[in-house]
Amino acid sequence: MDTYENEREQMVTHQIASKGVRDERVLAAMRKVPRHRFVPMDARPYAYVDSPVRIGRGQTISQPFIVALMTELLDVQTEHRVLDVGTGSGYQAAILGELAAEVFSIERHPELAETAEEILSELGYENVQVVVGDGTRGYAPAAPFDRIIVAAAAPSVPQALLDQLASAGRLVIPVGPRYSQRLEVWDRQEARFKRSTNIPVVFVPLIGEEGWED
Ligand code: SAH
Repeated sequence: MDTYENEREQMVTHQIASKGVRDERVLAAMRKVPRHRFVPMDARPYAYVDSPVRIGRGQTISQPFIVALMTELLDVQTEHRVLDVGTGSGYQAAILGELAAEVFSIERHPELAETAEEILSELGYENVQVVVGDGTRGYAPAAPFDRIIVAAAAPSVPQALLDQLASAGRLVIPVGPRYSQRLEVWDRQEARFKRSTNIPVVFVPLIGEEGWED
């Protein structure tokens, strides 16, 4: 095992499995994806610590546990097409790339999107496509999606994301005021939506037409 593989094993054991994430496919993806490749060079020593890491432009890559929990809640199947809102570093997109058939990841900052895209293609994630745009509007050209995951906090759930969910689709999103939110899980059955609420979280703001103002 190289150093990073060992760090990932420790991360999964002590930060993720120990806090209740049990889905073996999710744990395997967290063991496999080289998280250190998605953080800036000077932050590599902190890539596997139990906290978010700065990635530039005032943004962060989420804490490993939160990535794992949200991915488990998303319940991704191998045939799914997934929309990932807030590409950031591209780490969450890579995790989804391990689990789903196709991933569309949308980011509002072109520079972050570009860096993420480079790393994802270096690592061979051919089923992940990064696009620049306002993810509060979803991504109509590839809709509907079996699963949608949002890595930035919305004041309320963007209608466009509910509209772009396939029937039997699921959306996982942090919702609430600027500095404290709760993870919400929305399930669609044809025209009906059911919401359940998960743990309290703190995310950077989702900025856009159906999110916060810049
Ligand atoms: N999933 C990321 C975490 C990114 S943090 C990772 O694994 O690294 C949230 C990201 O959402 C930031 O990069 C921010 O620029 C982006 N963001 C905020 N509002 C957005 C919007 N309306 N559309 C797309 N991206 C948005």
